[in-house]
Amino acid sequence: MLVSMREMLEDARKNHYAIPAFDVSNYDMMKSVLEACEEERSPALLMVLGVDLVDKGMPLMASMIKGASDHFNIPVCLHLDHATDFELIKSAIDAGFSSVMYDGSVLDFENNAKNTANVTQYAHARGVSVEAELGHVGNASVGSISETGTDTDPGESLTVPAEVAKFVEITDVDALAVAIGTSHGVYQKTPELRIDRLDEIMAVCDRPLVLHGGSGTPNDQMQNAIRHGITKINIYSDVVAMLNKGLKDKLNTIDNPSTWPCIVFEDARKMMKDVVKEKLRTFGSAGRL
Ligand SMILES: [Zn+2]
Repeated sequence: MLVSMREMLEDARKNHYAIPAFDVSNYDMMKSVLEACEEERSPALLMVLGVDLVDKGMPLMASMIKGASDHFNIPVCLHLDHATDFELIKSAIDAGFSSVMYDGSVLDFENNAKNTANVTQYAHARGVSVEAELGHVGNASVGSISETGTDTDPGESLTVPAEVAKFVEITDVDALAVAIGTSHGVYQKTPELRIDRLDEIMAVCDRPLVLHGGSGTPNDQMQNAIRHGITKINIYSDVVAMLNKGLKDKLNTIDNPSTWPCIVFEDARKMMKDVVKEKLRTFGSAGRL
C-alpha cells in the first residue's frame, strides 16, 4: 500500500535527515529504487514525470508502482513530479498517486498561491499530500530537454523568504520546494548553495523543505543543506546516467541481437541500485526503518 509524503517528511524534519526522491520512468528504474531502499531500510519516495504518463502511462505506471509497493516491506510514496496542469493532478490522484507536486513557479506569487491552494484543497480531501514550489529552480544545461519539451525555462530565481509564510498560509502545502542555487539537469559548473538563504526560509517556514536538482550537487553541500533543514532531495539525472551507461556498455559486448532483456538490463540495474544506495546513505535516510 502507498503512503502519503507528509508523514515521511515530518519524521525527516524532526530527525534531521533527508529522503532522496527518485524519478522513475520504467520497470527497471522502479525495481532498482525499491530494492535499494528495502536493502538499506529506508522509506521509498518514487516520483513520475508527466512525460512518462502520456497515452495510458498514467494508469499503467500507477498500477505497476502501487502493486509493487505490496511486495516490499517499507513505506512507499508515489509522487507526481512537476505537474503544471490541474487535470494531470486530478488524473494522478484518480489513478492512485499518494502525493503530487503542483509547480506554479513560473507564475507570479498570487497565481502560484491561488492555483496551489486549489490543488491542496482537492488533494487533501482525498488524503493526498502536496508539494509546491516558490521561487524557480531553472535548468542547468542549455539544450537539456525540459519536462514540457520546450526551451522556455526562465532560469533560476531564488525563493524570497518574506513570501514564504504567506504562501504556506494561503496554500497549506505539505512540502515546499525552494530555489537556493541548484538547477535541473546536468551542471556546466559546480553549484554554490545559498545556505544563508535557506536559513532565512527555515526561520519563517514550518513545512518540510525540498531541494530540486540534487543530481551533480556535491555531497558536502547537500549534507550541509540537510543540516540546515532540507528534508527531500530530488534525483533524476544521476540515476538515468547509470541506466544509459549500463545499457550502452553492456550492448557493446553483446553480439546476439535476440539477447534477453533481463540480461541486457542486468548491469544497468546494478549500477542504478548502487547510486540510489549511495544517496540514501549520504542523505541519512538509510537505516531509519
Ligand atoms: Zn524538479
